[in-house]
Amino acid sequence: MFTYPGNIHIHSCFSDGSGNLGQIAADASTAGLSYVIICDHETLAGFPEEAIYNDVVLLVGSEINSKHNHYLALASDQQVDSDDDNPQRVIDQVREAGGLGFIAHPFDRGTKYIEKGKAYPWNCWPVFNFHGIEIWNFSSHWRGLRQPLFQILYWFFINRNAAMKGPPRRLLRLWDCYNIHGHRTVGIGGSDAHAYLYRSGFFHITIFTYRYTFKTINTYIVLKEELKRDFTGAKKQITGALHDGCCYISFDSLHPGKDFSYYASTGGKVFCMGGEMHYHEGITLHIKTPGRRPLIRLIKNGKLISENAGVTLEYNPTGPGVYRVEVYHRTGIGRLRPWIYSNPIYIKPTAKVK
Ligand SMILES: [Zn+2]
Ligand SMILES: [Zn+2]
Repeated sequence: MFTYPGNIHIHSCFSDGSGNLGQIAADASTAGLSYVIICDHETLAGFPEEAIYNDVVLLVGSEINSKHNHYLALASDQQVDSDDDNPQRVIDQVREAGGLGFIAHPFDRGTKYIEKGKAYPWNCWPVFNFHGIEIWNFSSHWRGLRQPLFQILYWFFINRNAAMKGPPRRLLRLWDCYNIHGHRTVGIGGSDAHAYLYRSGFFHITIFTYRYTFKTINTYIVLKEELKRDFTGAKKQITGALHDGCCYISFDSLHPGKDFSYYASTGGKVFCMGGEMHYHEGITLHIKTPGRRPLIRLIKNGKLISENAGVTLEYNPTGPGVYRVEVYHRTGIGRLRPWIYSNPIYIKPTAKVK
């Protein structure tokens, strides 16, 4: 298996980001990424610039809707119109256009320090037929901090990693709920990078540069073969992995998640994340993670069933379920910080013999 880091949900100067696609690709290359996906607001203006830049595959999707119910549409060259108050229509149209749609930052919440508390949550439930959910969004997380200003400034200037408390628990529950009830839902991470340039008189500062943001919340794809060097082939592999859920989210500022692996084996066959099989005896789940004294948690149907304070965990499922992994990174002073979130492996009930 081959693992490649990428950054999804990036805004460029085609909407409210500050960089052009060439600059973004250059920063992604410096950050060691293999792919990036641009998601400008309601435009595919960057689409003609999709290409491999040096060693980075740059893909272009869009972010649909503005007031609320933001929706990422990837892997399609057709721009779907916004419909803020009828997001199911947007979901259906993206699917009809052959795209992969992801609900963006569904529990976004505002803070009085930015835009007078304005937030961009998903406020229309339930919806169906979307492909996945952005489980952890870097910028949305920072925008939603409601601690006293001195605390936020301390985090921003001194210890940014400490501000990242993991995806909202209720979002993880919602994700599990869809998966448990048979609605396969792929989880991705998003940066929502804007590299916003703040100016006041002679003072100007870029809030979270692209280069910095590309080392925060990344989505790693896992491939059976090496990433192809031709653009069409590489695009197919990347969108295929995101389609299949053969991917995981890592907060790379803590430690790069590159050497993480999670798969199931049975009878000489191997199933990656997103894989499905019927339950039988003899299935083993294998988890391996980088890091020093991490904590691995195996979650079945939303509940913790096994954990290990080490770099490996093996588990023999005793029944069907949706099995996913969380890994916590241990800091130098022993604190555990949320780090890696895998997509599930789906073990279905034993097939009935007629
Ligand atoms: Zn958004
Ligand atoms: Zn966005």
